[in-house]
Amino acid sequence: MQIANGIYQLSGHMNGLNSNTFVIDTEEGLVLIDTGYRPYYLDAQKKVLSFWGLENKKIIAVFLTHAHFDHAGNAHFYEEQGIPVYVGEKDRDALKSGGDRVMESIFGSRFTTLKNPVPVKDGQEFAFGGETSAVKMKVIDLSGHTAGAVGFLVDKDGKRILFIGDMFMISGASPSDEMELEIGYTGSVDYDAAANLASFKKLAECGMDIDVVAVGHRGVFYGDCKELFEKLYNLALETIAPQE
Ligand SMILES: [Zn+2]
Repeated sequence: MQIANGIYQLSGHMNGLNSNTFVIDTEEGLVLIDTGYRPYYLDAQKKVLSFWGLENKKIIAVFLTHAHFDHAGNAHFYEEQGIPVYVGEKDRDALKSGGDRVMESIFGSRFTTLKNPVPVKDGQEFAFGGETSAVKMKVIDLSGHTAGAVGFLVDKDGKRILFIGDMFMISGASPSDEMELEIGYTGSVDYDAAANLASFKKLAECGMDIDVVAVGHRGVFYGDCKELFEKLYNLALETIAPQE
């Protein structure tokens, strides 16, 4: 599914799989956001890549929104091919150690650890492709869901797409045609409620014009992101604000 010009959902909700993987087609090569976590995710991704005529294009980088198994479980597959795997600096150790921090027991199999994931931090910028067609990407610290959870804000062809990981989920449409918002999983061993709330506040106050929010599970959001982030912050205040 194409979510913006040259940006595709490769696997996830749209082909019946749990977590979403996205790909950005740049002049330099393909950039992946998250990887999925079973070999059959890779098969599903291959099919979608060839559907869009991208199967022979080189994958040049993998960016992980966080270290959880369902987003990072296939990352080793890319590292083994010499492709750099980027992750928020505070989630880096989790990729190297596996275990509880990647939710190994919940997913019921061993996480194949990474040798040398590349840490990224808040505000760090990347650019891919030629001068006129450059795709820009900025890292935004959105910790809380995990210690090192990050979002990636991508500028491509005049549109801004925010890859958000598991901070929240969007589903619908309900019979009333209203979207249903849900705060992402709050059970990680390194979950931090105060940090999570601060991340929701940050989005609500960011004032950025964002065209598409690409979430780690379920649907992709098009619409008024300022209104969305305000609703989410209110929901976060009601449901996850640390109790005195
Ligand atoms: Zn997660």
